[in-house]
Amino acid sequence: MNPCLHCEARPQETLYRLCKRCASRRTIRKLYQYSKHWTPAWDRHLQDLVERAKRKLPLFPELPVFKDSKHPDDSATPFPVSEPR
Ligand SMILES: [Zn+2]
Repeated sequence: MNPCLHCEARPQETLYRLCKRCASRRTIRKLYQYSKHWTPAWDRHLQDLVERAKRKLPLFPELPVFKDSKHPDDSATPFPVSEPR
């Protein structure tokens, strides 16, 4: 049996794929309600991201990874500086 999508501690018991305890809370239920934009492909994409996060892998490996926290454009002077006359 699959674990609850929210707490992952108890089995899924409701239509929302939540345990009864999580489904009893409206704020949690709202997070997992199917919207009109929901598709199986989108759900699979979200589950893949959850699995990557659990394994501490980059969520979007196609994006560049910067070695330091500075933005690469920070090394450039933002505006031309003229010499004082
Ligand atoms: Zn739960």
